[in-house]
Amino acid sequence: MYEAVCSDCGQPCQVPFQPAEGRPVYCRECFRKHRKPRHEGGHGGGGRFRRDRDSGY
Ligand SMILES: [Zn+2]
Repeated sequence: MYEAVCSDCGQPCQVPFQPAEGRPVYCRECFRKHRKPRHEGGHGGGGRFRRDRDSGY
């Protein structure tokens, strides 16, 4: 376990991975808070509503 400071609540916590510099580290609770249920929609812009044509088969 690595010692780190939560980027959200600012409390010292321990994480199972080595915290990378410049990247936010969250404690367990905050990690759950920040974790989105679904990762949808990547980068904004770009072709939206793009649908593949009916490829045979
Ligand atoms: Zn926290």
